[in-house]
Amino acid sequence: MKKQQFVVIGLGRFGSSIALELMALNYEVLGIDRNEEIVSDMSDLLTYAVVADASDEEVLKSLGVRNFDCGIVAIGEDIQTSILATILLKDLGVSTVIAKAISVLHGRALEKLGVDRVVYPERDMGIRVAHQLVTPNLLDYIELSEDYSIVEMKVPMCLDGKTLTEINTRSRFGCSIVALHRTAGIIIAPTGMDQVRMGDIMVLIGSNANIEQFENEVM
Ligand code: ADP
Repeated sequence: MKKQQFVVIGLGRFGSSIALELMALNYEVLGIDRNEEIVSDMSDLLTYAVVADASDEEVLKSLGVRNFDCGIVAIGEDIQTSILATILLKDLGVSTVIAKAISVLHGRALEKLGVDRVVYPERDMGIRVAHQLVTPNLLDYIELSEDYSIVEMKVPMCLDGKTLTEINTRSRFGCSIVALHRTAGIIIAPTGMDQVRMGDIMVLIGSNANIEQFENEVM
């Protein structure tokens, strides 16, 4: 299967971070920014980096943007340009368009344009850091819906050596441990006999209320 190719519009803090990570994951990335200095700094780090105005349709056409599988509009502060660039990517036929929003209204406008995903980096990182601050063992979480999440937690000392049957999250808290990460590897769908060790990472799925109860009573 052909590897996906990405075009990142706006190489500010968010755009450059996405672009560099995609490169580290061995994908081809075209980065576009109107700021010459930024482009020159990134030119050795990306597959292609071009100084261009992303709100100019002819420019995007001439760069062959339509041939990219995924476009990321990483312009936040200048909402008008973010919207114009998004419309152009959609019109040129880029199959997946992801755009950064800096406010709820900006996000709503992007959704109306039919972007596949709106990301709110500052808001989402703020929420994530707040959760990590109040739950020290929480490493990460993914919201599945308003009420359900998947969370990654470090196994604390108090659970060291316990089997999943002993911890018994399912009947005590209505949530399930679906994977265990440890240096030796990952156990997917662990059984009741599997033991957790302090420092292992357990992946838990359940309702937010049940996960919170587990965190409060066990962690
Ligand atoms: P961040 O907060 O992630 O740094 P910014 O919105 O501050 O995001 O940065 C957006 C980037 O997009 C800047 O590097 C800016 O030069 C670039 N940019 C803004 N308008 C255009 C445009 N019309 N065409 C190309 N790049 C643009």
